[in-house]
Amino acid sequence: MEPAKGTELEKLQTILEQAGLGRNLNLLTAVLFVRNLVCHLGIYSEADKSKIQQVVLREIGKRNVDHDAFPVIIKALEQFLLRTNRVADLEDQLAREKRSTEALVEEMSHFFESMRASRDRQEQSLTQFNTATTEAVKAAPSRKDILKQVRGLLTEFVTEFREEARQWEARAKALEHTANFDALLSELYNRRSLDAFLAESVVTSNSRGLPFSMCMIDVDHFKNVNDTYGHQVGDDVLRALAKIVKTHASQHDGYAARYGGEELVLALPMPMDKAAMVAEELRRDVEDYDFQSRQGGKLTGDMIHFTVSIGVAEVVKGWNTAQLVEAADKALYLAKRSGRNLVARHTEDGSGRVGWV
Ligand code: GH3
Ligand code: MG
Ligand code: MG
Repeated sequence: MEPAKGTELEKLQTILEQAGLGRNLNLLTAVLFVRNLVCHLGIYSEADKSKIQQVVLREIGKRNVDHDAFPVIIKALEQFLLRTNRVADLEDQLAREKRSTEALVEEMSHFFESMRASRDRQEQSLTQFNTATTEAVKAAPSRKDILKQVRGLLTEFVTEFREEARQWEARAKALEHTANFDALLSELYNRRSLDAFLAESVVTSNSRGLPFSMCMIDVDHFKNVNDTYGHQVGDDVLRALAKIVKTHASQHDGYAARYGGEELVLALPMPMDKAAMVAEELRRDVEDYDFQSRQGGKLTGDMIHFTVSIGVAEVVKGWNTAQLVEAADKALYLAKRSGRNLVARHTEDGSGRVGWV
């Protein structure tokens, strides 16, 4: 093959012609894309880049390239891109979880550090109290004076301890909150608490025959909110949704938690038909909600409307937590497939039913 001459584009055209591919613009585009990929696109891993190149080269190498070659290349590129996005989402989620675990560890180490300092302080106070009491006993002129002075020292000592105990109680409560509630959506329980709550509720429901349902809530096209308005606004949207879910939980003696990412759970101590009605009210409240976006605390003037899809399932006798979650998940998937902004219920045959009646 003759070495190609001219601009980069001309060189490529020459190479394509020499490979017997003529001036196929589609193929040229694909080749250019793959070439740029190698140098510029960090979203693909090195391994994926070389796989993509192999696909393109294989198609080009067929020489008698027909019209099917380009769709094959594009499909391969899309598949790799999809895979990369999914990996990025997972990484996103992991990074968020890592941040909240780190915050908890930091808070706990502060807690233990100040606990140690407090114990040292208390030991010091106790020594001072002992010394002061002994001196008071030695120096006081009468029994009455001794009692008066010791009583004064004791009151001081107890007041100091009581104040410290009050601070400890507040700190322990804060720590408990951090351990059980979500770092971003602070009024919702976190995944760890949810898992424990579901496990206990399913066992109780089985043993006492009490109805127990769960609603799996997922924001529709949430990626678009992030892509259009940014991650920060996306977080604010999630906080607004958390408030709505929490309100419904409070009204119905329910339990509201974050399952992960933009998926929330509302657990309700009632049969599925009633739970689906609550889910429908919740869906409507979200649909009607006028979310005002803010930047640096100031309103931007953007009004965002968002919707949710909800899958509802009730514990069937003998089920475990995983079966309940899977049933709610399946119903959610049906709501998504049926057009989103919908409530769907799990049915025994597994096919599910859209709607809440
Ligand atoms: P669908 O209607 O099918 O649910 O579409 P979707 O775009 O909501 O679905 P997908 O699951 O593909 O995307 C969810 C997105 O939610 C991806 C992820 O980056 C984003 N996300 C998850 N957790 C958070 C979060 O805490 N804050 C923000 N801003 N985004 C989040
Ligand atoms: Mg989701
Ligand atoms: Mg979603």
